[in-house]
Amino acid sequence: MTVFEHKGKLLIVDCGVLFPEENQPGIDVILPDFTAIRSRLKDVVAVVLTHGHEDHIGGVPYLLKERPTIPIVGSRLTLALVTAKLEEHKITPKTVQVKEGDEVQFGPFGTEYFAVNHSIPDGLAVALRTSAGTVLCTGDFKMDQFPLDRRITDLGGFARLADEGVDLFLTDSTNADVPGFTTSEEDLAPAIDQVFRTAPRRIVVSSFASHVHRIQQVIDAAERHGRKIAFVGRSMVRNMGIAAELGFLRIPKGMLVDMKAIEKMPDENTVLICTGSQGEPMAALSRMANREHIIEIGEGDTILLASSLIPGNENAIYRIINAFTRWGAQVVHKGNAKVHVSGHASAGELTYCYNIVKPSAVLPYHGEWRHLTANAALARKTGVADDQVFVIENGVSVDLVDGRSSISGRIPAPYIFVDGQTMGLATETAMNDRKVLAEEGTITILAIVDSTTNALLEPLEFFARGFVEEKGWEENANKAITEALAGAGPRSKTSADELEALMTRTIGRWLSRRHRRNPVVTTIVVDE
Ligand SMILES: [Zn+2]
Repeated sequence: MTVFEHKGKLLIVDCGVLFPEENQPGIDVILPDFTAIRSRLKDVVAVVLTHGHEDHIGGVPYLLKERPTIPIVGSRLTLALVTAKLEEHKITPKTVQVKEGDEVQFGPFGTEYFAVNHSIPDGLAVALRTSAGTVLCTGDFKMDQFPLDRRITDLGGFARLADEGVDLFLTDSTNADVPGFTTSEEDLAPAIDQVFRTAPRRIVVSSFASHVHRIQQVIDAAERHGRKIAFVGRSMVRNMGIAAELGFLRIPKGMLVDMKAIEKMPDENTVLICTGSQGEPMAALSRMANREHIIEIGEGDTILLASSLIPGNENAIYRIINAFTRWGAQVVHKGNAKVHVSGHASAGELTYCYNIVKPSAVLPYHGEWRHLTANAALARKTGVADDQVFVIENGVSVDLVDGRSSISGRIPAPYIFVDGQTMGLATETAMNDRKVLAEEGTITILAIVDSTTNALLEPLEFFARGFVEEKGWEENANKAITEALAGAGPRSKTSADELEALMTRTIGRWLSRRHRRNPVVTTIVVDE
């Protein structure tokens, strides 16, 4: 989420979510922190969405919960996807549909839209014209010269804008450290066709539920080889329905059937297209791998993972590949066949862009630190002044005054965790507790004491979950705590709360020293 402020009004470009990594257990999604704009929501003139990926639109329902009337601006497909998502949250948004070439004024911001090519159709870059200067945001993009829809990134438009002068250029960094050029989507056709030519039985394809062009290639191959297709998984069914309805996905008549029908067909005439390419445990693909799905994968079946392998998901994906191969299936993935290309511009394309846009200042965005740094280096190499290239963390603000940019301040921008129905309640502290619980387990100690003397009336009781130790640890722990309690004196000197703290501290220290263990310890003192 990027927020632009001008003359007291705010314009937001994209509002996405992050997906949790292994060190964020139990988290559903991660939102940007709206704290800094919460008191100014009435000043927001628009949220411009560059494309329909979750990391650019996933936060919109949460933002609109705070002010449902904020206008949502985007292309036809992007708006259809975000509207379907908002429907699930029971929100009907106020939308403004735009397409490449359009110019629309929102408060003090003049906006213009340019076609960009990416791994989802109908992406847009947006230029903001203000009295302080002109900004160009690429969103996510690449420069595939042969995309399936023949809608290429509008470098001509970028060049026209460059003639006016681009004061600040925000550009996609995801592949900035990859040399050369991202290969074309159409280059995948031979490898996908090879899968269809040689698969003896059923084919199961897994991809992102938004990768319309990849799925189009699968459908085209299925058509050539006389197979019927079925979509599996809620988001796949929903998104492909939207894409087909709007004409972004072409499904030949009679080719799409439902799961019930496909189960009755000979396996060699079928293709299942499902989500779960990142090993998500609840998705159809994982459940098939674990034989928890109605579709039983076995000898002769072919699994095609036509997608990227997002760092952090490797273990989950290889677990699935192993499970399928154990059932006798063949798994085709980007590691053994050319079945995936990235959706982002590599260093070569980014360099072209810098030379065409000729920006005065550059703010690399979308990517991790190493990507931002690589992108910044490219900008400098094309001649952007050293002090006009901004590699910044979330929350840092950049001022653009009279065409010159500078870092002006910073606001806190922590991750906001969504956990079940809660938003922002699960904190970093909770994440640490969960990690400790996972690694060390927990011990609860129950102490029944005399309410005046604080003397133990019964032996301590230990309840351990996930904590394991050689037999006899409880007796030794008992001894350590009993000694500490004896030193605590009567209730007039040490309250029940203090007694609990003392026991927790004692057992914590003792376990750490004696057993090199740090479980979560809870102590309960019951007065008799
Ligand atoms: Zn994207």
